[in-house]
Amino acid sequence: MKASFRDELVPVSALNEYVYCPRRFYYQRYQDEIGTPYELVDGRSKHERQSRRGGWVRERYFRSNDLGLHGKIDLVESNDETLTPVERKRAESAEYYPSDEVQLAGYCMLLETALDESVNVGYIYLYSTDQRYAIQITENHRKTVREIVRHIRTMTVDSIPPLTDNPSKCEACSAREYCMPEETAMLEPDKAKGTGFEREERR
Ligand code: SF4
Repeated sequence: MKASFRDELVPVSALNEYVYCPRRFYYQRYQDEIGTPYELVDGRSKHERQSRRGGWVRERYFRSNDLGLHGKIDLVESNDETLTPVERKRAESAEYYPSDEVQLAGYCMLLETALDESVNVGYIYLYSTDQRYAIQITENHRKTVREIVRHIRTMTVDSIPPLTDNPSKCEACSAREYCMPEETAMLEPDKAKGTGFEREERR
């Protein structure tokens, strides 16, 4: 078991998982529940981008030591002047979430680092509705990405993040058997302070 992420690049998908619930991310990381390694594919060069003007390329892998990030972008679209990452979501939901925007921001930041030019818009495409949404990547998104990368890289096995502040997330959580939110809140109430579980108890 690895002790921390300190020396590793963070997969962009981890941003999404972390936003959902840092505690769940912790269990995924240290209990090795899901951990899917990324397939390494090429795709950093401007040369390739220029040869693809006016079209799209699938599954391009990017990494940046400066950002501390790496990841595979599903689809990169290009028109005359801009390259736009597309993140496709298979979930049944007819909407995307703030965590999806953060993940997309991570891809835009990786792409602009590789190209050395700004990438300020990305698309989220939902299979469930066949809709896609143009997302303006703000300074707030970028700041959030950097903060999450820092949190993840300093995460250690002996520092379990608190319970989520939104207990409805726990209903479908794959880490619930490790986390045991209700029992934790009941047996160790100090660990539920400031969370949604504490608020539920007060009702
Ligand atoms: S059960 Fe709830 S608090 Fe626990 S890891 Fe899952 S989402 Fe987070």
